[in-house]
Amino acid sequence: MKKSPLHHRIAPGTRVRWDRFNTAECGDVTAKDARIADTERIVAQLDPLQERLYAEGRRSLLVILQAIDTGGKDGVIRHVMRSLNPQGCVVTSFKVPTPEERNQDFLWRVHKAVPAKGMIAVFNRSHYEDVLVTRVHGLITPADAKRRMHHINAFERLLVDSGTTVLKFFLAISKDEQRRRLQARLDDPHKRWKFSPNDLIERKSWTRYAAANAEVLSATSTTHAPWHLIPADHKWYRNYVVARTMLDTLKGMDPKFPPAPLGVDFKTIRIPR
Ligand code: AMP
Ligand code: MG
Repeated sequence: MKKSPLHHRIAPGTRVRWDRFNTAECGDVTAKDARIADTERIVAQLDPLQERLYAEGRRSLLVILQAIDTGGKDGVIRHVMRSLNPQGCVVTSFKVPTPEERNQDFLWRVHKAVPAKGMIAVFNRSHYEDVLVTRVHGLITPADAKRRMHHINAFERLLVDSGTTVLKFFLAISKDEQRRRLQARLDDPHKRWKFSPNDLIERKSWTRYAAANAEVLSATSTTHAPWHLIPADHKWYRNYVVARTMLDTLKGMDPKFPPAPLGVDFKTIRIPR
């Protein structure tokens, strides 16, 4: 029996222990090629489900990707979302807030990017930056962070109540795996453009990030919008789990093609020449 990837879901109320988490978990390592083939098949199945979601036009899916630098957010978008119809999918990458964004509440820019009915939205980073990077750098107090997390839980509740399924993935890699990936960005001329000296500064706060990640995941894995904590050292495993979770979620939503418009007798109408 294949182990369900859904065991990576963080049950609400769980206290996440970062030091105990195995970022290299990959099920059966000898199954790598089989899992890659499975991922191909799974990714191909996302497209018809997306079409039904789009046609139905009543609900939407928000996929939130969080990870430390080099954690694989871009890789997931490239490998898992590639079969989606671009017309029904919007990817938003959240960077350091602009002066305009900074003059608003922290959810303002995020709310503008949530998916319209029928759409899938993917967040490359998200409102969780506002309780992670800001927290690690002491830009907000622990009390501010707590308040913000309450706002986040309520905001996601609002989205769910409005017909949006919220799927949250935290991609976790080890410190050693990050070292390899950052080094590769320097060594490979095709990857250098991705290297930011800031990544080295952030890396120095590894332990503080680990503590903040654990706290945020524990406080914001809710029944309406649970987190999936993905072991992401092995890219093939990471892609497989994210793809399967997306497929299971879309299948669970079970979007339906709407009927023909009222009054259209589709059985008898023949299109004239
Ligand atoms: P990248 O994803 O590599 O393009 O980097 C984007 C940078 O923007 C990262 O260093 C994030 O931590 C930072 N960032 C994103 N959102 C926020 C935020 N709300 N507050 C502060 N920094 C942020
Ligand atoms: Mg970066």
